[in-house]
Amino acid sequence: MDFGLSEEQRMIVETTRSFVETELYPHEQAVERSGVLPLELIREVQQKAMAAGLYAANMPLEVGGAGLDTLSWLLYEKELGRANYALHWTCVARPSNILLAGNEEQRERYLMPCIRGETWDCLAMTEPGAGSDLRGMKASARPDGDDWILNGTKHFISHADLAGFAIVFMATGEEDTPRGPKKRITAFFVDKGTPGFTVRDGYRNVSHRGYTNAILEFDDCRLHKRQILGEVHKGFEVANSWLGATRLQVASTCLGRAERALGHALQWAAERRQFGSQIGKFQGISFKLADMAMELKAAELLVREAAWKYDQGTVTEADMSMAKLKATEVLAMIADEAIQIHGGMGLMDELPLERIWRDARVERIWEGTSEIQRHIISRELLRPLGA
Ligand SMILES: Cc1cc2nc3c(=O)[nH]c(=O)nc-3n(C[C@H](O)[C@H](O)[C@H](O)COP(=O)(O)OP(=O)(O)OC[C@H]3O[C@@H](n4cnc5c(N)ncnc54)[C@H](O)[C@@H]3O)c2cc1C
Repeated sequence: MDFGLSEEQRMIVETTRSFVETELYPHEQAVERSGVLPLELIREVQQKAMAAGLYAANMPLEVGGAGLDTLSWLLYEKELGRANYALHWTCVARPSNILLAGNEEQRERYLMPCIRGETWDCLAMTEPGAGSDLRGMKASARPDGDDWILNGTKHFISHADLAGFAIVFMATGEEDTPRGPKKRITAFFVDKGTPGFTVRDGYRNVSHRGYTNAILEFDDCRLHKRQILGEVHKGFEVANSWLGATRLQVASTCLGRAERALGHALQWAAERRQFGSQIGKFQGISFKLADMAMELKAAELLVREAAWKYDQGTVTEADMSMAKLKATEVLAMIADEAIQIHGGMGLMDELPLERIWRDARVERIWEGTSEIQRHIISRELLRPLGA
């Protein structure tokens, strides 16, 4: 087993970190304080990210991406994850892998403009009445000749205000299974401006300032069948095939922020003096630092192992859930302890810690809550025993 990084991976880390520190950090405070990421700033940083070869680097070579293996991709995600979320997600976009599931025409129309930085995608599954239980969705689509008619509401949809189109999951019927009736789900591409499709402002959010969410409304929205992504009734199959590693992406961005917070905590513990001593010399502080470093390492090893297994084709749902669960919970712990080590200064927005602490909160909720990750892990443990 080799735990080291290759020369190429070290270069990815260095290049991405240097870009994040020089091009993203200087804009963080303005975005945090205003809650707005201006379009001119997006365009400016986007151009630089493209010139540095970092834009859409998650994509395969044949469509203009960097063609990275999973671990290399996650190392890049970790470095991007250090910065304000809105800045890195929008200015150094990583189009959703699910766009690769499109046919030739759909790739040209939806994937390529995202890779060229002309637009952004967004993914709409969650509804006011259906979060963790996505199969409980009420928004639906019914066939009408060669068309489909969409009705219903989605909410919490990230950056739908900026996106040129949405990939929307709709209930398209029901099937009988031994465990009772089950909704069939189909995925559709819906362009902004399609009659019957409205994007409304979402809610103000404690985490990730500048990174908006929206409410999507469908009122007899008519789409041609060529707008279907994948096959009719196979929306979850296409999502499961292409979005599996998104949990690892969340985990990796959390590792970046946790490492940044730990760096600040170490620096402060070494510099800050009370009672005539560096506070890092007090066990009450130094033991916290030891635990933070150990937990971060444990989380990183889980993510790296899952990444390695992903490329071997041996990764399990539980592997990815463990990585996501651990990394998001470790980030919360490290952010909290880093503030404790800083005392009052930790809460001031002169430092990125209060932001990292706020931002940590959503990570245990989106992309599957911590409870759902534990459910996935325990299910994999118990199923072989018939429970
Ligand atoms: C800022 C933000 C951005 C988002 N972006 C998107 C997006 O772009 N697209 C999208 O489709 N969705 C998005 N989401 C939705 C996100 O994925 C959901 O919030 C998440 O899946 C949880 O659903 P919920 O909020 O409805 O909570 P619920 O599912 O209602 O859960 C409430 C509580 O019950 C617990 N719970 C539920 N079921 C179980 C169970 N079986 N066992 C134990 N506990 C359980 C949960 O863990 C949680 O603690 C976003 C959410 C946020 C907050």
